Amino acid sequence: ERSGEEAMSLRPHFLVLTFPLQGHIAPALRLARRLLAAAPDALVTFSTTEAGHRRMFSATPGAPDDDGRLELLPFSDGTETGYVRSSDAASFNDYMASFHAAGARSVGELVDALAARGRPVTRVVYTMLLPWAADVARERGVPSALYWIQPAAVLAIYYHYFHGHAAVVAEHRHDPSFLVRLPGLPPQAIRDLPSFVTDSTDPSDFYHCVYVTTRDLFDALDRETPKATIVINTCQELEEATLAALGAYNSLSIGPVLPAGDEACLFKQDDARYMEWLDAKPASSVVYVSFGSLARMAKEQLDELLLGLEESGRPYLCVVRKDNKAELAEAEPEMDARIKNGMVVEWCDQVRVLEHAAVGCFVTHCGWNSVLETVASGVPMVCVPQMSDQRMNAWLVEYEWRVGTRAEVGSDGVLRAAELRRRVEEVMRGDARGTAAGWKRAVAEALGKGGSSDHNLMAFVEGIGSDVQ
Ligand code: UDP
Ligand code: UDP
Repeated sequence: ERSGEEAMSLRPHFLVLTFPLQGHIAPALRLARRLLAAAPDALVTFSTTEAGHRRMFSATPGAPDDDGRLELLPFSDGTETGYVRSSDAASFNDYMASFHAAGARSVGELVDALAARGRPVTRVVYTMLLPWAADVARERGVPSALYWIQPAAVLAIYYHYFHGHAAVVAEHRHDPSFLVRLPGLPPQAIRDLPSFVTDSTDPSDFYHCVYVTTRDLFDALDRETPKATIVINTCQELEEATLAALGAYNSLSIGPVLPAGDEACLFKQDDARYMEWLDAKPASSVVYVSFGSLARMAKEQLDELLLGLEESGRPYLCVVRKDNKAELAEAEPEMDARIKNGMVVEWCDQVRVLEHAAVGCFVTHCGWNSVLETVASGVPMVCVPQMSDQRMNAWLVEYEWRVGTRAEVGSDGVLRAAELRRRVEEVMRGDARGTAAGWKRAVAEALGKGGSSDHNLMAFVEGIGSDVQ
């Protein structure tokens, strides 16, 4: 129990915890920076695994940023190497077992160490895949909040799935077009549900491992009293009906959480030659292509992609990650010869690219970060969802906001060159661009002073509707 005087003197101190993936670390760090901006007296300790830290940050662990309010302190996942990106499910499952056990212990020690240093944590904020974070916080008398980094629609789907609707999904698992009706959501085809609830029941499988972790997370949310607080990386304007129906939680939409201007200084830098290349291109002429930080392209997919892009006659900037290129090693010399009208890079600063006036559309795998960054930039999309929440995200893009179109893939999952060309022309010439400009304005308003997301973030920082104080 803290005395009244001690509680008064407590400086708000958020411990932001995240799984060591690009798509989790980036939005978590962006939230950390927004918290610092919203509460000028607040401190943030930002923590991911040691390997995640090494991979993402140029800063040494423990080195505080300039004004000392943000500190990067990794936690241990009990392994030397961290999460090795591999398609091998067994190694992923082993990793997750270690991650959960060692992570919970290490984060507990971190909370204790910060208190001992006179920097007690007043709120733990954690992303998905850390189902133990709320318990670790509660054991130390610290309130917590889940930071949901997928759409509110996916949060709602999981909520209903784990509260009475699993049977209907299981029953129709093999009928992709079957429409599942969940409260507060438009009917969803089985094929568009998050892949973790539909793609596997095999305990040795990657999907199943993520499924179990997600189920544990929703069980942990149910243990919270009064209601679990969830801050969601979306905004009122983008997902109004879904958010209104999320009464089971104290949910606050605070997004899209975008990088602050100086984010880049923390991250490893790339040589940004592609920016000069973009500078030389006419407005809205370039097709930008990326499947995010995880999805791997098969050689056949890369062949079709490059063929389609070359045949489109439009300039293109295409990301093929180094770890994906390794798999395509044999194709590489040949690949270079085929690139006539575009530029292929291993990585780029995507937010800067999307904001560049030369970019006319984005061929995307629809990771939620990519979708939000694109909506905020007013760029129309060609959706090629791969897994996880991406099919749902593509559905929002195409049917809810009408800022893009979903490309059809063959039964082998490969997007063919002709279909790519057709879809690129559709969004480059159609209404999507005008609609996208409207959403860009709506999102900017939500984030601006007094906008819906700004209002909710301030409420969260001040602890309204929570058990802080
Ligand atoms: N990468 C990432 N986030 C970043 C930079 C890179 O996820 O901020 C990914 C990207 O897929 C890239 C891979 O990590 O292809 C390797 O990146 P990098 O060349 O920076 O690291 P290295 O392989 O030299 O450790
Ligand atoms: N990203 C980037 N450069 C690239 C590819 C991706 O900066 O070449 C960033 C992108 O801006 C986004 C994140 O990596 O913030 C990917 O997250 P997302 O949720 O879109 O997909 P995931 O990688 O988790 O599948």
